[in-house]
Amino acid sequence: MNKKLTLAHFYPDNMNLYGDLGNIVTLLKRCQWQNIDLEIIEIKKTDKIGLKNVDIIFLGGGQDQGQKIIADDLLSRADMIKEEIEKGLVALTICGGFQLFGKYFQTAENERIPGISVFDCYTTAGQKRLIGNVIVDTEQSAKEWLPTAEFPHYKPSRTTLVGFENHSGQTILGDNCRPLGKIIKGFGNQGDSKHEGGVYKNAFGTYLHGSLLPKNPWFADHLIALAYFRRYSVEVMLHELDDSVEISAHEAALLRAETAKTVSI
Ligand code: GLN
Repeated sequence: MNKKLTLAHFYPDNMNLYGDLGNIVTLLKRCQWQNIDLEIIEIKKTDKIGLKNVDIIFLGGGQDQGQKIIADDLLSRADMIKEEIEKGLVALTICGGFQLFGKYFQTAENERIPGISVFDCYTTAGQKRLIGNVIVDTEQSAKEWLPTAEFPHYKPSRTTLVGFENHSGQTILGDNCRPLGKIIKGFGNQGDSKHEGGVYKNAFGTYLHGSLLPKNPWFADHLIALAYFRRYSVEVMLHELDDSVEISAHEAALLRAETAKTVSI
């Protein structure tokens, strides 16, 4: 009998930019390949769904307009989401989703869209859009994510993340939100090519579209391992998959990022 995990996909109609849905497909397939049944629940505005039986939540990126459409509904779920995040709920939030898991996103028109403050950070639109291929090094930061005591067998096969960014927002991390990693190539949180993303407990935010997980399978497995441990209190024994296609995509994205010019318009 396969073990089961449940993923709640927030606002798939309004918050899904640059292929973010590929993250859901990756988690679904990688769970299937590990004989884990992943149930996907879509949460749309006004859907009344509790999170007690949910193991992973996902919120994709969105244009300013999309963020405004869902902000009030997300705010109405803030306490429930934060309560479960404190208990180790795994979350992956991309760009506009990452911004609204912070305190707020202030648009270029000075309109402040409220966030739910899972992450101790805030975002303000800069004068230019930050667009381009990104390479992130998580070697140092990942040491904080994985409680090695509970995961003696799980060793991430890689520590680089590749993806694509397109955002006006510049995100400032507070003391209680650690960066996902260091920028090797690209603009990152503040456009200064220093840090990218944010981490709080098992909640992860990133500007990396692309989508993120297909080209970074080790990170998908990391999220699955965290969710599995929280649900079953044992380390998941992931067997080795043939990731040759994923790794060649990762390598191609690395090469593209290393040779491309970053554009800010
Ligand atoms: N609207 C937000 C910004 O421009 C987020 C964009 C996105 O999700 N790609 O920063």
